[in-house]
Amino acid sequence: MSESQRVAIVTGGARGIGAATAKRLAADGFAVAVIDLDEASCAATVDGITQSGGRAIGVGADVSDSDAVTGAVARVAEELGAPTVLVNNAGVIRDNLLFKMTDSDWDLVMSVHLRGAFLMSRTVQTHMTAAKYGRIVNLSSTSALGNRGQANYAAAKAGLQGFTKTLALELGPFGVTANAVAPGFIVTEMTQATAERVGVSFEDFQAARAAETPVRRVGYPADIAHTISFLVSEGAGFVTGQVIYVAGGPRG
Ligand code: NAP
Repeated sequence: MSESQRVAIVTGGARGIGAATAKRLAADGFAVAVIDLDEASCAATVDGITQSGGRAIGVGADVSDSDAVTGAVARVAEELGAPTVLVNNAGVIRDNLLFKMTDSDWDLVMSVHLRGAFLMSRTVQTHMTAAKYGRIVNLSSTSALGNRGQANYAAAKAGLQGFTKTLALELGPFGVTANAVAPGFIVTEMTQATAERVGVSFEDFQAARAAETPVRRVGYPADIAHTISFLVSEGAGFVTGQVIYVAGGPRG
């Protein structure tokens, strides 16, 4: 492998959008560190990449744990090289109507999405600013515009948009861009869990979402990976502080 191969970190890369993004970035030529809660769960993504001739490692870390994040990023730098691309994708949902939402439903969602993106970005920017180059992509959501049963998640995803714009302002002078991708309905285990919660088969749930989406289909992890691939490319250096809705319509 070339010594100048860029290193990308994708959090929550064991499955869903993160796995598709990790594989896409590897196909684009990046060495990829797949971070997820449990190192063993990263194996399928990592093996998929290495079997296709790419370079990848799996790292177990909770993105909301400061020490774990410091250790994970140090390991990536040592084993793959200094990371200059970061995709903050790890996420959880704890949906409930406001009157039933518990303190821990609120705290966990804030902690993984917001604190996780903060800790990862603060740690990785050291490598980016030293390299005078970097690309950060944060996963927001159409839920940032408001979504029944998701007061916690909507607040976190809207918060990530403000976080992204601030990173763009602070890190721009160092050659680092920061953008958010806000997916609409994407077929993953996360949306499968939502279908289960509302008591609808996943097939019917997808059909209903497709019918209300202007392009008349649901989204897939590859749709999001494609947009992230663009945002982390070298040629996207003049695009920063943006929120790109990838939702089959203006609002999903
Ligand atoms: P997913 O299938 O549930 O995958 C999320 C991954 O994040 C899982 O592998 C999960 O690990 C990992 N994770 C959770 N908490 C973590 C933590 N504290 N530290 C490290 N990793 C952690 O979700 P997805 O649908 O691919 O969604 C990915 C991102 O896109 C999320 O930020 C989500 O909010 C956002 N998004 C998704 C949709 C959609 O329709 N699917 C729409 C808009 C935005 P475990 O399996 O061990 O829990």
